[in-house]
Amino acid sequence: MMVDAIMRFPILLLCLSTLSAQSSYDLLLKGGHVIDPKNKISAVRDVAIRDGLIATVARDIPATQARKVVDVAGLYVTPGLIDLHAHVFAGSEGKGLAGGHTSIFPDDFALRVGVTTVVDAGSSGRRNFAQFKKTVIDRARTRVLVFLNIGGSGMPGDEHEQDVNDMDAKAAADLAIANRDTIVGIKVAHYRGPDWTPVERGVEAGALANIPVMIDFGEFRPERPFQELVLKKLRPGDIYTHAFYVPVPMLDESGRLLPYLFEARKRGVLFDVGHGGAAFEFRQAVPAVKQGFPPDSISTDVHSGSINAGMKDQLNVMSKFLNMGMSLDDVVYRSTWNPARIIHREEQLGHLSVGALADIAVLRLEKGKFGFVDSWGAGMDGVQRLTGELTVSSGRVVYDLNARTRERWDRLGKYQPQGEPSWDGSRGAGRPRPLTRSK
Ligand SMILES: [Zn+2]
Repeated sequence: MMVDAIMRFPILLLCLSTLSAQSSYDLLLKGGHVIDPKNKISAVRDVAIRDGLIATVARDIPATQARKVVDVAGLYVTPGLIDLHAHVFAGSEGKGLAGGHTSIFPDDFALRVGVTTVVDAGSSGRRNFAQFKKTVIDRARTRVLVFLNIGGSGMPGDEHEQDVNDMDAKAAADLAIANRDTIVGIKVAHYRGPDWTPVERGVEAGALANIPVMIDFGEFRPERPFQELVLKKLRPGDIYTHAFYVPVPMLDESGRLLPYLFEARKRGVLFDVGHGGAAFEFRQAVPAVKQGFPPDSISTDVHSGSINAGMKDQLNVMSKFLNMGMSLDDVVYRSTWNPARIIHREEQLGHLSVGALADIAVLRLEKGKFGFVDSWGAGMDGVQRLTGELTVSSGRVVYDLNARTRERWDRLGKYQPQGEPSWDGSRGAGRPRPLTRSK
């Protein structure tokens, strides 16, 4: 009957063939092992993208339906990684991590390791957030979100970060409310004093703006015990970063995890890695993971002091947890869906549901003999390591290590610049395309 209809109506047939020639999808990643913890998928699936969004995830999507098909068999396909603790307010006009030389521009390190979203953890405060937005956030291809420092100037250096008179909860909350698209939380950090003022102001700002607070506890002092921070001062949904830093009371004398940690977790307080240049030690992390206390989120605390030391990049930190015995699915969960939930970006980020932003990491899991270094310089052997193969941001390929998307040079006809804007974002500068179709 269908054949009859087509025979009788050649115009209909013409319309159908024109439709398929136009292609349903811009980009199709074919044959990879998809790990999408939110949707409980860990299996070989094809992923199709249209207009910068996830269009279909299925067992077999015909290659003819896409403008660009990429073979990713043998690789892992995950939501774009979210680095919950980074320092990307780089520049030459500011100081330190606040517009100075110790922050790193996001595109310099993120996309090549599958990270499509970084959350800057307090480099800017209310006085220099506008400069940060103008000089870095609005120009980067990496998506940049912000924990706004409770201190007015962010992190220009130690002296400013001790000034409790410049920690204005109302002003910080007002700025966060006015910039809800970018500011996802409040940061408190590096305080050395004996009092709780910065923590209390941070939590106050978080409550006013209804956003989480991330705490770097600074100097650990007996006047303000860490146990009190996580059992009393922080609200459910607030984050303690630097979870495996040696000063954190973690183990008793026989090497058992202290029960208050589980109590804090039960209250809803979250523990982030925040590796950095000082705050990740195997002697804390290994027993914690083995005894059932994994981090809620895996993050780098990237800055000039950590990027070439033990930390290196997001995939190196994730690989450490793999080699401590965590499963790949779990490591991906704590680098995608969980951080998206922590910053309340569940709709668009951290998963591959139809309609989500098409931010995707394609990763290779290498097996062999590897080594890893912690923040204090101790080493650990490992047998597997993740590397970045291909990164897609808002539906466009922004990083392609092994020319998977490329026609071979000796098989091209006319030799001209390659790629088309519907799927290719790896050549030239500029932000990921907005959520409208560009032709
Ligand atoms: Zn930091």
